[in-house]
Amino acid sequence: MISISQWFTTGRLETKVYRLILKSVMFAALFLGVFDYIFSPPLLAYSELLFALVSALLLLNTYYSVVSYSFSSRIFIFSMALPIYWNLLCNESALESTIFFIFLPLISIILRPFKELVVLALLFGGSFIGIVLFYHGMAELSNMELFKLIMVQILVSVFIFIYVHNNRNYQEIISKQGQKLKAANQQLEKLYKDKSLEAATDSLTGLNNRAAFMPQFEHLYARYERQRESFCLILFDLDHFKEVNDTYGHSEGDLVLQYVAKESLEAVRKVDMLARYGGEEFAVLLPHTQLQTALNVAERIRSAIEQNVKMTGRPITASFGVVEIKDGMSVADMIDLADQALYQAKADGRNRVQSAEIAE
Ligand code: GH3
Ligand code: MG
Ligand code: MG
Repeated sequence: MISISQWFTTGRLETKVYRLILKSVMFAALFLGVFDYIFSPPLLAYSELLFALVSALLLLNTYYSVVSYSFSSRIFIFSMALPIYWNLLCNESALESTIFFIFLPLISIILRPFKELVVLALLFGGSFIGIVLFYHGMAELSNMELFKLIMVQILVSVFIFIYVHNNRNYQEIISKQGQKLKAANQQLEKLYKDKSLEAATDSLTGLNNRAAFMPQFEHLYARYERQRESFCLILFDLDHFKEVNDTYGHSEGDLVLQYVAKESLEAVRKVDMLARYGGEEFAVLLPHTQLQTALNVAERIRSAIEQNVKMTGRPITASFGVVEIKDGMSVADMIDLADQALYQAKADGRNRVQSAEIAE
């Protein structure tokens, strides 16, 4: 069982019962307002006030239970206000103002929330001053009329307050959710980047692996097909690397691969794309480059490795095959040609650069 006071604190009133009360009071108020307008006995006027108080309490509950500002409560508050205004104004034949208030609920439904708020504030505030000053004059208002008028203004103020408050609550919830979502998205993005980087990177050397290299190759090739923009491929393979492994051990061999990667990376240009193509085989893509330049770059890498990568004094060397894209060549053709040139370099005594054109 839930007590009445709990209803007010837990928001349980925003249930079917709450809505039922809201609707009953609304219709009763309308009904009474019409009667009041026609017969105007004091008892009905007092009943109106009672309804105004009940509606204020209901609205207060709406506020404390952080019940959402709903369409029904909007209709409710205007219906409550309407007969009181009606009675107040029609008895004084202030028809122009009355029309304002009769159409206010309709206006409020049509308008969007923020505009509605502004228009309401202007209409109510302005009308209030208008009624008091131009139609009645302070002295001519009876206590009851004044009380009713103030009651309506209080109701409207409470309504606007709840409206603004709930609206702000929504805004806060939305912005908090938005921030959470943004953070989650960033995390996801980072995770995705990390994962794709991991998938694209060779863990030993930190260079791109073949999986990352091939799309770059395809991309350059597509650009060549569209714009005839020449590019080159270098393949190079460490010389007698099996011996290095056999002599110094596999982990020393790994170190050599790391040094080779570092030296090669320093020797290529910023635009060039270096990758670990296989075990001790590397590849470089040189965008917007012709054969002679590619041969120079290959020579630079070769010499850097020879001079800077040593195993107990013995230089590590590599052999190079270089190819420039030509009409009718496919990506696979380029790889084959570079490979053939590389093996030609091996056959010619290793530690040298061989161009595919010469090998053909
Ligand atoms: P060549 O001059 O003809 O290229 O002789 P090679 O010994 O380099 O040729 P081969 O292909 O017979 O040997 C390649 C060696 O590279 C064999 C393999 O164990 C080694 N290798 C491949 N990947 C790795 C690696 O990740 N780490 C180490 N330490 N060795 C590797
Ligand atoms: Mg080798
Ligand atoms: Mg090899």
